[in-house]
Amino acid sequence: MSERAIKIRCSNCLVLNRVEEPKLGSSPRCGSCKTELTVPRQPAYARQDTFDREVSYWPETLLVMFTSNASVYCRIAEPLISDLAARRAGKLKVLKVDVDDDSYFKERFKVTETPAFLVFKAGEFVIRMDGLMKDKSELVQWVENLINYTSY
Ligand SMILES: [Zn+2]
Repeated sequence: MSERAIKIRCSNCLVLNRVEEPKLGSSPRCGSCKTELTVPRQPAYARQDTFDREVSYWPETLLVMFTSNASVYCRIAEPLISDLAARRAGKLKVLKVDVDDDSYFKERFKVTETPAFLVFKAGEFVIRMDGLMKDKSELVQWVENLINYTSY
């Protein structure tokens, strides 16, 4: 497997496919059932009924971002994370929780300040960060490092 290959789970048959990163944009298909493989390119809201499945089925890095409209730091972090989700599509999936609207995840993960970030790799919890780093570029670097971190 080349370093540039991305693991994508087929939404139809759940088989893991390896797709070369440059081919990601040319509608790759599942090697097993030929269903088109899709990768999220922007953050999606976390949903109670699908959250655990989404986490366990995602073979790469998954970031859960807790935000609040009232927090200026969240407004700083959100476009950075959206940009990462687009730039590292296939490697990174982002689920978003608005703590003003959704208390389920807030209580489940005991989030008391925003923004807060939880990171999973291949379905396993890796690390969390509560609050924004002083320098916003550190946030991007932190996520990039976690995406590139493979020895787990
Ligand atoms: Zn398939």
